[in-house]
Amino acid sequence: MKKVNNIEYIIPIKGLSIGKHYYNFTIGNSFFEEYEKSEIFGANLEIELTLDKQATFIDVKGGFKGTVITECDRCLGELELEIDFMASLLVRFGKIDPEEEIGGEEVLFLDPSESELDLRQFFYDYICLALPIQRVHKEEECDPEILEKLKSHAVVSEQKIEIKESPFDKLKTLMN
Ligand SMILES: [Zn+2]
Repeated sequence: MKKVNNIEYIIPIKGLSIGKHYYNFTIGNSFFEEYEKSEIFGANLEIELTLDKQATFIDVKGGFKGTVITECDRCLGELELEIDFMASLLVRFGKIDPEEEIGGEEVLFLDPSESELDLRQFFYDYICLALPIQRVHKEEECDPEILEKLKSHAVVSEQKIEIKESPFDKLKTLMN
């Protein structure tokens, strides 16, 4: 795995005073390099983060805005998508309590002695979630050469199926 130094996404929380703190982050292409199986190849994102520290928890809210580069489902070419969304994370100090009602919100449990809050996974998860299920170019923007190749492949596999099916067709006629 490629080691990328994304230390800027780790916030020191030990000496942080109670109350609200504001941060700005930029996410570029290198952020995704440490996730080998990522469906995102690049990004140009701004994150405005509010971190509300209390005695037993930290409430994190982020506004994500910008573009990500992923793959077009139809022509497999690069596809740039605009994203703009809000996400929140509740960081609780203490041990994981499975009995606790979480109520749909993302909760991260941190040991009270922990001095840093690593936001990388939170950022990554929510950026991936923000991608639409169908990722395709507008019809005319797909790579025409690739589309042509895909079409001929589709024809070939259809022919194969036909050949495979023919013995059964013969059987069927025999039985009739
Ligand atoms: Zn396309």
